[in-house]
Amino acid sequence: MIYLDSAATTAVRREVLEAMWPYMTGDFGNPSSHHTVGESAARALAGARSAVASWLGCRAGEVTFTSGGTEADNLAIKGIALGNPRGRHIVTTAIEHEAVLESVDYLKRMHGFAVTLLPVDRDGLVDPEQLAVALRDDTTLVSIMYANNEVGTVQRIAELARVCHERGVPMHTDAVQAAGWLSLDVRELGVDALSVSGHKIGAPKGTGALFVRGRLPLEPVLHGGGQERGRRSGTENVAGAVALATAARLVEQGRETNAQTARDARDSFIEHVLARVPAAQLTGHPSSRLPASASFVFDGTSGESVLLELERRGVVSSSGSACAAGSDEASHVLVALGYPEVLAQTAVRFSWSPDVTGEQLAAAAASVVEAVEAVGVLAT
Ligand code: PLP
Repeated sequence: MIYLDSAATTAVRREVLEAMWPYMTGDFGNPSSHHTVGESAARALAGARSAVASWLGCRAGEVTFTSGGTEADNLAIKGIALGNPRGRHIVTTAIEHEAVLESVDYLKRMHGFAVTLLPVDRDGLVDPEQLAVALRDDTTLVSIMYANNEVGTVQRIAELARVCHERGVPMHTDAVQAAGWLSLDVRELGVDALSVSGHKIGAPKGTGALFVRGRLPLEPVLHGGGQERGRRSGTENVAGAVALATAARLVEQGRETNAQTARDARDSFIEHVLARVPAAQLTGHPSSRLPASASFVFDGTSGESVLLELERRGVVSSSGSACAAGSDEASHVLVALGYPEVLAQTAVRFSWSPDVTGEQLAAAAASVVEAVEAVGVLAT
């Protein structure tokens, strides 16, 4: 089987499992406990926090562990928007993950926020000038994803952050998909908040973190025992934090070489499919895209049938985001990129991890050609 759905989730890496194992067995303590068992867990948590902070280029005190990308996004959007006394206007884009869009919608429904949804161009890029125009004196937060989960487009985050800062507005980025491949150094990106999720980079599901720049007020979403400096109550998932930190270290070790190898394989994969499948159109930006992401619409076919034919040939991929899979609704991302709904329903996304080889991708590309031929292009 060739697994090309890493944007949905990845396998837990052996080194990660080994690193977290002691904190689920012998060193199982509660980090808040004042005895040696608890103190050992607290030390592990502090070590994991420092490791994640060095990954993100921030201070350890600026890292809050969460239960994943969804919680990190919720905390960033609700926490910063509600904690910022500037006003009740929030800016995001039409192509964000539901964790951002639904959090923004909550602020609108329950707290009377005005929302500006920035459009994107055909390749999925946000225009910094349109962002500048959208900012208001009462804008509390801008949230723009680093890389899109469906079409892989990578935004010019540093430039967008500069536009926000010229108006004194904090900026959050959802870096869940970027995390395995791109630098997350918040000093270079210039962002004030950034979300990551463990299960996209070889840590277990239910692990993640949010960076929030020190001086930014943050209203907690989860209330309780005051863990994570009051930002996120709940007994800490020590093993999960260690897992995230270990996965991050492994990502960073080979990141640039892995990204270059993946880019080359991606470009051959895309070229092969576009050359052999007349119905195929690449979605997302041709070059400013994740190194291990190739997404298409196959005009006149049914995306679900192509997926089934691919699976029969041993290639596992998806119709878009994991949550949209299996539903008949056209992807909000492709619609925002300007694709008609009927075409958007023929979308297939391929995404992989660094252990997928160039040979496997070449074999998968050949299977894509066969799968689309097997489905046949419907007469329109
Ligand atoms: N943000 C993006 C861009 C994602 O792709 C995902 C997951 O698919 C999430 C947020 C949610 O992360 P999690 O599954 O860890 O809650």
